[in-house]
Amino acid sequence: MNKNKNLSSSDEFLYKLIEKEEERQENEIELIASENYASMAVLEAMSSVLNNKYSEGYSGKRYYGGNQIIDEVETLAIERLKQLFGAEHVNVQPLSGSPANASVYMAFLEPGDKVLGLKLDHGGHLSHGHGVNFSGRLYDFVQYEVEENGFIDMEKVREIALREKPKMIVAGFSAYSRNLDWKRFKEIADEVGAYTFADIAHIAGLIAGGVLDSPVPYFDVISSTTHKTLRGPRGAFILCKEQFAKQVDRAVFPGMQGGPHDHITAAKAVAFKEALDPEFKIYCQQIIKNAQKMAEEFIKKDYKIISGGTDNHLMVIDLRNKNISGLEAEKVLEKVGISVSRSTIPNDPAPPMRPSGLRIGTPAITTRGFKEEEVLFLVELIDEAIKNKDDDEKLEKIKKQVQDLCQKFPIYKK
Ligand SMILES: *Cc1c(COP(=O)(O)O)cnc(C)c1O
Repeated sequence: MNKNKNLSSSDEFLYKLIEKEEERQENEIELIASENYASMAVLEAMSSVLNNKYSEGYSGKRYYGGNQIIDEVETLAIERLKQLFGAEHVNVQPLSGSPANASVYMAFLEPGDKVLGLKLDHGGHLSHGHGVNFSGRLYDFVQYEVEENGFIDMEKVREIALREKPKMIVAGFSAYSRNLDWKRFKEIADEVGAYTFADIAHIAGLIAGGVLDSPVPYFDVISSTTHKTLRGPRGAFILCKEQFAKQVDRAVFPGMQGGPHDHITAAKAVAFKEALDPEFKIYCQQIIKNAQKMAEEFIKKDYKIISGGTDNHLMVIDLRNKNISGLEAEKVLEKVGISVSRSTIPNDPAPPMRPSGLRIGTPAITTRGFKEEEVLFLVELIDEAIKNKDDDEKLEKIKKQVQDLCQKFPIYKK
């Protein structure tokens, strides 16, 4: 085996695929609310020799030898993450968002325990109790919803909590564009003696950047991914109050996982350092400015935004008055080089594979440097594409405009 061959010579076919994907990312516009572009520094840490190490356990208490340097890497990630969120205890080993949530449930609940979470088609996540997910199968989930106006009504949440007496209340979302009232969730949980669990997978970056309120002062335990607004490697972490430190750590390892991915831990540490930089706050402010501008422009063009606007990085558009399904819109936009994700809308009358909505987010375009001016133009392009969904010639022209715009805002190419 020639260990020193680089990818382009050892596996040319795969190398070319990666190059093609890089081209695609450079030349297309990314509006999927959960995606972002990690820095070269983050990518570099991920492709390092740290990949080669086994380190089951925690710093100073590993089940394998040779972990002196890995201990330093993990401790660095831990210290930076604590600083970033002002958290009492953190665990940086969860492999991704869903396994992190599995660990949280394992740390606080027994199978069959009752949990209250936001319904999937109202903006929640699969791992908040959906029937096809482990969460819905292992635990007895009851769900709260958004109201007709698109907002969560905390009095309704309280009513359900008082009636159902859950052991845990989950607050967090994948498709909700409004602020959550962390303090109120905590008050309700205290009334019924429930644990509070915040899943900030989507908004961790915005909280770290200080532009959204943090659940850390109120909540018992918090999970997040690191690859969405936080712009790090694919992965996750858990924050908790000191009193739950042992049970959380034990649930992650040996409860849920084996060896941590040390190269990813290193890349998380890089991303946390980037998020601690004052520049990151300006980035987060721009994400929200871009999202609000976008929502405003869509509304001007007679698009219906669920809840009528956004406080964060995303919005869900109800397309029912536009004579196009979410799936069709996703496909048309894909043709012109704009990635979005179809989405259910609350109480969607359409089937889940052909839902009535689109979810759109601004973290990735903001990373590449788009500001309000580009957002305006982008909404124009999206509207044109949707209106001309059957006119291939017109779509081809829009695709060219998308490429021209992208070329003015390179991601990695300089
Ligand atoms: C993305 C997301 C997750 C899952 O993260 P994966 O890394 O895809 O497993 C969990 N919870 C919420 C709220 C999310 O948005």
